[in-house]
Amino acid sequence: MSTSAPVRAATEPPYRGRFAPSPTGPLHFGSLVTALAGFLQARTQGGQWHLRIDDIDPPREQPGAADAIRFALTRCHLHWDGEVIHQRHKQDQHRAALERLMAAGLAYRCTCSRRMVGASAYPGTCRSANRPAQGRFSVRVCVGAATVSLVDPIQGPHLWQLDREGGDFVVWRVENLPAYHLAAVVDDAEAGITEVVRGADLLDSAPRQRHLQSLLGLPIATYLHLPVAVDGAGQKLSKQALAPDIAGQAPVQTLLQALTWLGQEPPVSLQRALPREVIEWAIAHWAQSRIPRLRQRVVPPS
Ligand code: GLU
Ligand code: ZN
Repeated sequence: MSTSAPVRAATEPPYRGRFAPSPTGPLHFGSLVTALAGFLQARTQGGQWHLRIDDIDPPREQPGAADAIRFALTRCHLHWDGEVIHQRHKQDQHRAALERLMAAGLAYRCTCSRRMVGASAYPGTCRSANRPAQGRFSVRVCVGAATVSLVDPIQGPHLWQLDREGGDFVVWRVENLPAYHLAAVVDDAEAGITEVVRGADLLDSAPRQRHLQSLLGLPIATYLHLPVAVDGAGQKLSKQALAPDIAGQAPVQTLLQALTWLGQEPPVSLQRALPREVIEWAIAHWAQSRIPRLRQRVVPPS
């Protein structure tokens, strides 16, 4: 076990992490570093690491992507615990959480179009309007005057005032599907997730998810937001921007590049090792404190 792994008190629940890719394309370098960092956080703390496929947005999904992600993780020796969880199988739980919010008067139907709301904070137009449950509507949760603060081990302390930054946000989409924040907190709570490791592009999701956890009385996870992997032009590597599928690269090379990007210093001798041996080295030497404290970091061309 790495000497720099945080020590968990006996009273704390055992560490449980998860990697939650959306199946919108194959695994690219940016999602691999998230998987690797989360895996190492779990394995160096004697914890579990789960794989959840965030498949609640069918139009954005790509056939075969979930299989490709599983295959790429396995090839890199990033083995998850238990069954793969699929968000689309959890819609009853998502809906039950929505109904609890509605019954408590904490959420309401909204018929405003995206164009009407624009880029500024939602002004609360439908909050007291009691919109009918027919036709097209989304459901928004009240943020009130909630301020949320948290200290992220990589991104530092942050404070958000939700009413100024976006206002009441959508928890159920007009397409009659759960919105990401609601689905994420319900599924994280069900799986007993204690730490969420993901990219800093989702840092502003953390206060919204904390707010929902507090309204729903769910246990609170801690968050670790990694730098976002960007290309030389500062563009986030993404499936949409057609970042290369890491399956086209030798797994050892990918893992070593990912470890280096995460501030770890794998010895050159590992270039001739097996993926399993690279992972064993990484578990023995993982130091969260060496992750660069950056919002984004360029991925050098391989
Ligand atoms: N499914 C989200 C994504 O791929 C990540 C969700 C999360 O880690 O909270 O961007
Ligand atoms: Zn509205």
